[in-house]
Amino acid sequence: GPRSRALQERRTAAVAPGVGSVLPVYVTDAGGGVVVDADGNSLIDFGSGIAVTSVGNANLRVAARVKEQADRFTHTCFMVAPYESYVAVCENLNRITPGGHEKRSILVNSGAEAVENAVKIARYATGRQAVVVFDHGYHGRTLLTMTLTAKNMPYKQGFGPYAPEVYRMPLAYPFRWPTGPENCGPEAAAQAIDQITKQIGASNVAAVVVEPIQGEGGFIEPAPGFLPAIAEFSRANGILFIADEVQTGFARTGDMFACEHEGIVPDLVTTAKGIAGGLPLAGVTGRADIMDKVHGGGLGGTYGGNPLACEAALAVLEEIEEGRLTERARRIGEVMLPRLRALAEKHEAIGDVRGRGAMIAIELVRPGTKDPDPELTAEIARRCHAEGVLVLTAGTYGNVLRFLPPLVIPEHLLNEGLDVIEEAFAG
Ligand code: PMP
Repeated sequence: GPRSRALQERRTAAVAPGVGSVLPVYVTDAGGGVVVDADGNSLIDFGSGIAVTSVGNANLRVAARVKEQADRFTHTCFMVAPYESYVAVCENLNRITPGGHEKRSILVNSGAEAVENAVKIARYATGRQAVVVFDHGYHGRTLLTMTLTAKNMPYKQGFGPYAPEVYRMPLAYPFRWPTGPENCGPEAAAQAIDQITKQIGASNVAAVVVEPIQGEGGFIEPAPGFLPAIAEFSRANGILFIADEVQTGFARTGDMFACEHEGIVPDLVTTAKGIAGGLPLAGVTGRADIMDKVHGGGLGGTYGGNPLACEAALAVLEEIEEGRLTERARRIGEVMLPRLRALAEKHEAIGDVRGRGAMIAIELVRPGTKDPDPELTAEIARRCHAEGVLVLTAGTYGNVLRFLPPLVIPEHLLNEGLDVIEEAFAG
């Protein structure tokens, strides 16, 4: 529309193009599973601002708590003059993350910062340097987390040199594993463990960093047995297991954390995105004996755990727990997966349908092959956007359509969104 077009012109003149946007429309209102643009067009939201607004973009409880806090004070800096809400968020994180052991947490501003701090803590606690990551992994855009990230374009191209002592291992990607999905979990784990042992030496590894379901990599759910085998190997060798739950955490996959699915208890967990309804907040939560090692002042930052974000996080967790949003996430998967599987029966271009809870994806291929089809993926996304459904793409090969509806989306909107996706495949 004309308003969005005018804003797009101002943007081009004012904003560096290195920061992209999926849509050329400018948002004026959002909530209840719908995003409204400056020209009054509505889009059904299957993105949640990249898995952030699980409780909705305009959740009443979040808005009220943030407003109340803004009237009291917006900042003192927790490192200068602390306040209760930071402590309460850490108590919550310690309670809800996997494992009944004693834990401590720190709060920072973004997922990348959380991962970066988890690695710092792991190196400090182990006195080791090497960090193991996996194919298709995504962990952020800072120097260290960009290095931990697998994909060159757009994340790494031209931004080197990268941080040292980062080693990448195979990941159990069922759809693309050469000997098939049945063998994938144990084989990929054995390959990774063999390479870690031979190329790095297990005793030099501080930590493995892994997403329990890969997000930007294309919603790859590692084949069963892979994560437990890596966790077991880590435990046996004094390597800390860092679960990057930035995208998967906070009820998104139908469990509070995706690690719970295979009973994994990580040494350290990173959280962000769904934690605070869109206010900038992230956390590192870990075993108390590890977290307690780092000297005072070694961790932190001016804004980390700012009071507005902490109030939002307290409200979000109340909404998740009182609203039983893990169950809502499961229900969303139960609605989406059968419809997408039926669609895949009709369209050879859909090579794989996967995901858990409200973290669902389809992978598009050239018919009769497993060759990625990023052009069709972009075209389907464009058609969805034109017909009023906000979907996101992902994947190492750019050929994954991913769906991350808010957990509170009404079921009729969910089904309407799926109707539009089906029509987009019809042409
Ligand atoms: N880790 C994972 C698994 C993520 O999905 C993301 C964001 N897509 C990040 C880290 C980085 O988070 P942020 O963008 O908040 O820095």
